[in-house]
Amino acid sequence: MNIPESLADIQELIIKKEISLVQICQEYITRIKSSKNNAFIEIFEKEALSKAEEVQKKIANNEFGLLAGIFVGLKDNICYKDHYLSASSKMLKGFRSLFSATAVDKIINEDAIIIGRLNCDEFAMGSSNENSIYGAVKNPIDERKVPGGSSGGSAAAVAEGLCNIALGSDTGGSIRQPASFCGVIGMKPTYGRISRNGLIAYGSSFDQIGVFSKTIQDANLLIHVMSGSDEFDSTVSSREPSNKKIELSKKKFNIGIPDEYLKFKGLDLEIKNKLLSVIDDLKFKGHKVEILKFPFLKYLVPTYYVLTTAEASSNLARYDGAHYGYRTNKAVDINSTYENSRSEGFGIEVKRRIMLGNFVLSSGYYDAYFTKAQKVRRLIKTKTEEMLKNNDVLILPTAPSTAFSIGEIKDPIKMYLQDIFTVHANITGVPAISLPIGTHSNKLPFGIQLMAKRFQENTLFEVSNLLMEAHSK
Ligand code: GLN
Repeated sequence: MNIPESLADIQELIIKKEISLVQICQEYITRIKSSKNNAFIEIFEKEALSKAEEVQKKIANNEFGLLAGIFVGLKDNICYKDHYLSASSKMLKGFRSLFSATAVDKIINEDAIIIGRLNCDEFAMGSSNENSIYGAVKNPIDERKVPGGSSGGSAAAVAEGLCNIALGSDTGGSIRQPASFCGVIGMKPTYGRISRNGLIAYGSSFDQIGVFSKTIQDANLLIHVMSGSDEFDSTVSSREPSNKKIELSKKKFNIGIPDEYLKFKGLDLEIKNKLLSVIDDLKFKGHKVEILKFPFLKYLVPTYYVLTTAEASSNLARYDGAHYGYRTNKAVDINSTYENSRSEGFGIEVKRRIMLGNFVLSSGYYDAYFTKAQKVRRLIKTKTEEMLKNNDVLILPTAPSTAFSIGEIKDPIKMYLQDIFTVHANITGVPAISLPIGTHSNKLPFGIQLMAKRFQENTLFEVSNLLMEAHSK
């Protein structure tokens, strides 16, 4: 059975009675069950089917929400009441959410159907989805390759057509890099756009929930629905982006490209050339493209890893074997409970980051690392705001390469450098998107990234629409 990629097309078919929501649900469930990519770790089969019946009735009565027809896979770090949630970690095995994330409540209120839970890197730490107790996810385009991370299951699920939308979280690129590796759209909104209530915390001043989709309209709609103030997250803005259809804009945009990104030595030549050809095309169509100076490229990854590990070491302190989650059998007293539960419950990458975070926060090193990184974050923010002052968007690569092989990158530093182009948006809090407009001669897809000013998601989507129209077919 063929399921259209966009929600508008699905709704049209349902209204014309050419297809029913239950049939679509069944088709997705069949696909998930026969998929070999290890993206889904749980299917909510019965409840998705009964919800599909319910929403189908609403459609028949012409009283349905904005997201009727959407089937969503949830990354395993986003709470869904009464459902298991583990952050792909032994630490949370058997844990059930007591409440739903605000973003999940909001999409359910608009008749989205949650179809299952998606594999990811443990506590969202990683760039390849190899750090998961459920095992690696395979890239649907080439199963020897990683799907990217940490939201690898989300990207692979949408790419393979196992659901039409997946939610992920993006702390340093975890939506955009896997979107690039799997050939789908991956959108991280402005920090403060969507409530983090019910998202398992990693780096709280960086984390944002975002969306994987096949169309710009659907990404825009999901961001619109999930946005808005929330009494459970004081960092969220009450501003809501419009849900107006993103028309093909006739505006001429000002677009900036930091020279250092183009000249980065580790950038794959074909990705660079595609970026240059997209830029030429934009100029040809009358947009203004300006080459900018961004002298901080080499500080992005160190700043990100000092600050996020510091925040993670504090956020992950709650997993102690006493409150909830995994508890060791070797619990004799308080210390051995904490020590053994944490040693046995966390995987190696999470432990590495907790130790790194504790180190940069420890007295004697605090000023040299944590305070310094905060100062550098400020410099990067100021410079980025300056670059975006006269430009509507910045255009960049999403990742330095196409998907690498499973097991290929063993050195953690090399893995961290994967994030070089994506952490910029998280350090500065601006919205960013990866658009699937490149195909490499190795047949793997890759994305081109756009960043806009804070709360300018609409501009980001408008320019995205232009690029998708011109380059995605
Ligand atoms: N790859 C980055 C990291 O490991 C990004 C993770 C994320 O965005 N959650 O921290």
